[in-house]
Amino acid sequence: DIAWVNGQISEIGRAKVPLLDRGYLFGDGVYEVLRVYRGRPFALDEHMERLADSLAGVRINYPLVSERLRTLIDELVAQAGYAEASVYLQITRGASVRQHAFPAGCEPSLVLTVTKTQQPERGQQEGGVGVITVPDDRWAHCHIKSVNLLPNVLAKQKAREAGAFEAVFVRAGNRISEGSSSNIFAVKDGVMVTPPLDGHILPGVTRRMVLSIARQEGFPVREEDLPLEFLRQAEEVFLTGTTIEVLPVTKIGGTPLGSGIPGPVTRAIFQAFTRKTESQS
Ligand code: PMP
Repeated sequence: DIAWVNGQISEIGRAKVPLLDRGYLFGDGVYEVLRVYRGRPFALDEHMERLADSLAGVRINYPLVSERLRTLIDELVAQAGYAEASVYLQITRGASVRQHAFPAGCEPSLVLTVTKTQQPERGQQEGGVGVITVPDDRWAHCHIKSVNLLPNVLAKQKAREAGAFEAVFVRAGNRISEGSSSNIFAVKDGVMVTPPLDGHILPGVTRRMVLSIARQEGFPVREEDLPLEFLRQAEEVFLTGTTIEVLPVTKIGGTPLGSGIPGPVTRAIFQAFTRKTESQS
């Protein structure tokens, strides 16, 4: 696995950033994770678009040149020698004296890593995973993909300790937002529902693709508030994300969901998504 830190390439375990980098001191930065399938970055334009929105959201000025980044990613992926890989890309406000307000003359810092993809096991894809629900105690700008991930880290750890794969955030006791690192969809009475883009969730690239697949395949789909009750009574629930792709949920808080096995809608969406990743040119 390799890292690229402001132009310096090294083995990932040896890569270094300055102590005064604001990403380290304040979590003052944004990031992206994208997949490489058969040596090619998948949905790069969508990730670059979201990165630009995240940068604007935290007022970091970084000239994103998609083509330059694409070339850089291609070079790093080739150097890492993986056909299937995950690319992590982080931009922080840079390194300067420690003060909360933006220091003058602080230059943003870009870091990239290429690692082997840690995909869910086959059993999880085929049998589904369990989730727990946790209160959503995050801020009101969850559409920004910031490196401030402490609530997400604590939520995921709680899921691990409960023997679940993911923690799903719930607001005001009954509104589902998203997973700690995934978006969520529920199917009930044949209608697919996913929470809207209202600042409480990340606009997932996979979410967007799944919505377009669902519309193409003629599944009724709505972007609207998803009550906890709807989730509990759903026939099918699945998570989406760059690394997990489309992952069936078969248990909520230890209770089996619906038939207790992954359902036909989830399968159809997963298969259509796989066709997309396999057919990218
Ligand atoms: N929500 C959160 C909080 C996430 O961290 C992620 C993973 N990046 C997602 C949703 C899924 O987004 P994407 O499909 O773009 O990976």
